[in-house]
Amino acid sequence: MSKKVGNAIILKKLWQEKNWDKLKTTLETPKKNLTPHLTDSIQYVKGVGPKRAELFKRLGINTVEDVLTHLPRRYEDRGNLKKISQIKYGEIETISGIVKAAGINVTTRKRMKIFELVVGDGTGIITAKWFNQPYMKNVFKVGQKVILNGKVKMNNYYGYGAEMDNPEYEIIDEDGDPLLHTGRIVPIYPETSGLTSRQIRVIMKTILDTHLPQVNDYLPADIIEGNRLMPLSSAMSEVHFPVIEKDMGLLNSGRSEMHRRLAFDEFFFLELGLALKKKDVEKEKREIPYTAKGELLEGLRNNLPFKLTSAQQRVIAEIKRDLTSPHPMNRLIQGDVGCGKTVVALSAMLMAIENGFQAAIMAPTEILAEQHYLNIKNMMDKLSLKIALLTSSRKKKEDIKAVEDGEINIIVGTHALIQDDIRFKRLGLAVVDEQHKFGVMQRGAIKKKGYNPDILIMTATPIPRTLAMSVYGDLDISIIDELPPNRMPIKTMKFYKSHRLDAFKLVKKEILQGRQCYLIYPLIEESEKVDLKAATEMAEHLKKDIFPEYNLGLLHGRMKTEEKEAVMRDFKEGRINILVSTTVIEVGIDVSNASVMLIEHAERFGLAQLHQLRGRVGRGQYQSYCLLMAEYPLSDDAKRRLEIMVKTNNGFDIAEEDLNIRGPGEFFGTKQSGLPELKNANILRDVKVLEAARGAAFDLIKKDSSLTMPEHGSLKTILKQKWLEKLEMGTIS
Ligand code: ADP
Ligand code: MG
Repeated sequence: MSKKVGNAIILKKLWQEKNWDKLKTTLETPKKNLTPHLTDSIQYVKGVGPKRAELFKRLGINTVEDVLTHLPRRYEDRGNLKKISQIKYGEIETISGIVKAAGINVTTRKRMKIFELVVGDGTGIITAKWFNQPYMKNVFKVGQKVILNGKVKMNNYYGYGAEMDNPEYEIIDEDGDPLLHTGRIVPIYPETSGLTSRQIRVIMKTILDTHLPQVNDYLPADIIEGNRLMPLSSAMSEVHFPVIEKDMGLLNSGRSEMHRRLAFDEFFFLELGLALKKKDVEKEKREIPYTAKGELLEGLRNNLPFKLTSAQQRVIAEIKRDLTSPHPMNRLIQGDVGCGKTVVALSAMLMAIENGFQAAIMAPTEILAEQHYLNIKNMMDKLSLKIALLTSSRKKKEDIKAVEDGEINIIVGTHALIQDDIRFKRLGLAVVDEQHKFGVMQRGAIKKKGYNPDILIMTATPIPRTLAMSVYGDLDISIIDELPPNRMPIKTMKFYKSHRLDAFKLVKKEILQGRQCYLIYPLIEESEKVDLKAATEMAEHLKKDIFPEYNLGLLHGRMKTEEKEAVMRDFKEGRINILVSTTVIEVGIDVSNASVMLIEHAERFGLAQLHQLRGRVGRGQYQSYCLLMAEYPLSDDAKRRLEIMVKTNNGFDIAEEDLNIRGPGEFFGTKQSGLPELKNANILRDVKVLEAARGAAFDLIKKDSSLTMPEHGSLKTILKQKWLEKLEMGTIS
């Protein structure tokens, strides 16, 4: 780039030479305190102005820094210059030569204006044509040196000779200005109408020339050196106009050293924020560390009809360690559907109760809360504890009072638990079940219901550990990676509508053997009424025409709680053979005699939902089936989803595929997970980078727990500017 960028050039050279020691010392020498103009509005950049600034806004670009981090969508190698005599018809080629002639032709028939340019290089000539762009004649002059890049075809007017239509071009001037559009590896940007890649390239070049000298490497030198990162200034210029990196594969997959550096920074600040957040939590004190011996726990174990898996035991031990430490627990339990998270939560709750506290468990739906309530009551019946159920439609006055007076030990509920009218006498532990259904806020709200209570979050969204650490970075994580023994893998099959009777045959066979079946109907919010009608009609049709000899039940979100409870109880106790339901039963429901999950319109469901639904069967010792009924037309994504479901039962594999199909943003749902949007880093592609950045950030906070060291000043500034809000952090002092 330009001569002004002295330091940047030195750094780049050192990086290329892999001279890490020198690079580190160069980075460490005090920088001139340059005012960071990267936050300048793009409007005042040469060649932009208010109109173009509006266009940039459409691309989400407001500041100079936004432009610099607007990375190419892909790159094209236009650097391989050929002689005109060597180029081939049908290939995309790049040539350089001298303009021999230029002028406008008008076609006789359509009266189209064609600007024609004849370029020769001593080995041959080629004609370039631009259609209906007469202003192109002002761009070129005879005698100029130019580079052209485009697809070569036969000149069909003459019937011989080479031609390029609308080629990319570059005029080489005497000053030796660097090439931007041809003759090199060229960036192709995400565009918007009125703003082309070509224009963005020119503006990018201007900004790199004027602002690059102000790009201070805010990362501590030892982190750059230790992680072999490219200096920020080099990364920012090279990522747009690659010189060092020529590997098109690396460039186009976003895996070049420049991409790595920029992704590292994004992750680093995210993790730095999370590390600070975690540090804050660790400063909290619990009311008392637990000391009791675990008699209740012993009682529960003796009462269980099964032996805990070793994964369950391990996680219970991890929880116990938290509860006996001086700081409150903030733990996430991840485990695939059916791995037995409830009993682990219950064990934690018993420890709390034995130490004189109340414990609460919050579920995302009334049905699930109800079921937890019944289950827990069942498992505890020998332990003489008091349990209450509190949901918005079932809140008995006397229960609320008993909770307030501390007479109730275990409170089961929905988000009703975090409403103002519920007060606990002494809440010691709050369990949040199926976190993916709750927002981050609710996690905070339940916490306020006690004095620094222990928090246990349970989720069946199985995401790879590293990702979980960054999404829930302020939590400790336990994984239940084992299903109870003797579970037979669920057989999943795909049916098209024309073969639905085959699916129903299987349902009949299972019912004859004493099993039960779920039949799920999708419910989409916008058309809730229509779908509800469809579900109801479906239930009637099945009752009348297909399964007249069996008992069918209907369950949907619009029913009153008591009605829902009655239906669930009938199903649980075997009085209903087939439960036709909307997705209200998606999470948590546990009826081990059910062996068939038939999903209508399976093509409409997302992978996570399908996996959750499937997890409702296969909970006992019986062979279970998941029947996916699909209707044409199927989108490619839908097809892929169904295929994955048939192929694997493994929640981690499914989550990974889901991530691939939907991309991290959609997958995590920014609001729900608390994961800020990342601009260029990709949590999937860049897992290694994420790990490294996380390590660096947490190490740094270990050394400088509130970023008070002067050399961390700029980190603190950036964190405050950009990440405070995204990370829902209060303040950084
Ligand atoms: P999830 O992790 O999906 O919430 P649940 O806690 O609902 O799973 O447990 C699923 C089923 O497995 C329940 O019926 C539960 O009683 C049973 N279960 C839990 N742990 C074990 C175990 N160690 N051995 C056998 N069955 C178990
Ligand atoms: Mg559960």
